[in-house]
Amino acid sequence: MITAKARAVDGPDKLFRVAEIKRRDLDVHDVLIEIKYAGICHSDIHTAHGEWGAVHYPLVPGHEIAGIVAEVGAEVTKYKVGDRVGVGCMVDSCGECENCRNGEEQYCLNGNTPTYAGVDKYGEPTQGGYSTHIVVPENFVVRIPDNIGLDVAAPLLCAGITTYSPLNHWQAGPGKKVAVIGLGGLGHMAVKIAHAKGAEVTVLSQTLRKKDDGLKFGADHYHATSEPDTFKKLAGSFDLIINTVSAKLDMDAYFSLLTLDGTLVNVGAPAEPLSVNVFSLIGQRRSFAGSAIGGIRETQEMLDFCAEHDIAPQIEVISADPEQIDKAYKRVLASDVRYRFVIDISTM
Ligand code: NAP
Ligand code: ZN
Repeated sequence: MITAKARAVDGPDKLFRVAEIKRRDLDVHDVLIEIKYAGICHSDIHTAHGEWGAVHYPLVPGHEIAGIVAEVGAEVTKYKVGDRVGVGCMVDSCGECENCRNGEEQYCLNGNTPTYAGVDKYGEPTQGGYSTHIVVPENFVVRIPDNIGLDVAAPLLCAGITTYSPLNHWQAGPGKKVAVIGLGGLGHMAVKIAHAKGAEVTVLSQTLRKKDDGLKFGADHYHATSEPDTFKKLAGSFDLIINTVSAKLDMDAYFSLLTLDGTLVNVGAPAEPLSVNVFSLIGQRRSFAGSAIGGIRETQEMLDFCAEHDIAPQIEVISADPEQIDKAYKRVLASDVRYRFVIDISTM
């Protein structure tokens, strides 16, 4: 067993504290990673607060992990000590179902093993990246290209892939009008990636406060959804809308912004159900879809795409002081994140 330093919460309304956790001894296909940086995703907050259902406490969140391989199991072939690697939202899956065989492990028909708040094949609760070390099967580890710093690589492992995957699947590219709702962690990555893919990108944010940033990230247009005119002006405009908002929205208002055959993809995952008036879909044969992270192969493809196109998230690095993490959570909840908090694990 390896003892790792960590930051944990003990309940839905508890603050972060210093903790120690055990990481298993390496199985033959396992990799031990010394974590350097861990991003703070809004999903960490939903989970830590118990909004998505009961979780096992103490909980160590964190599924945007970047670090260095410190040890490899006897039969590991893909990685060696010293390699720069990342781990995202899952650390295992059955490997045998149709979806796993197709490289869509996130949709494993037997359920993938989430990086934290899950249970691994040994029956142990999984604990995430707000910690100094993690043990992960090599098939759930990706390689971080040399020209991407480990600090900015971390958020790509969730915010990057979660937006890259639907932009790929629904073919964002030249001639396509794409809107992104919410300019937070996922939203700002969606803007950068959609722009790099050649789409015409519009940000739909609550206010114009972050307009300069949005345009700098590659958006062509920027609108405030709090302005009553916005929905009238943009009616029927977009081929694809990526909704990254962590709270309940008036979906019908956003469906009205889609073209004939347009699709609105929800990646945002509010705990509260969203309501839909089907007439706002059927009148223009519109689709309402969802998308979860991406498979391991696609995650590697996303990292290579970001390396090639010089795409990195805009981050604010914080120390691993528990109070700093609590403060970051508050700012994310207040839509005051610019645009991803990343914990410097070396300060643990
Ligand atoms: P985030 O950084 O907090 O960004 C969310 C953005 O949504 C905010 O910055 C804000 O943007 C907007 N927003 C927040 N509350 C709002 C409200 N009440 N009304 C309208 N807009 C609001 O969060 P994130 O880390 O990007 O995650 C976003 C969501 O995606 C979360 O629910 C998370 O759990 C989910 N998620 C899903 C997946 C997946 O696989 N599908 C993966 C990762 C995360 P503006 O200030 O610009 O309006
Ligand atoms: Zn996430």
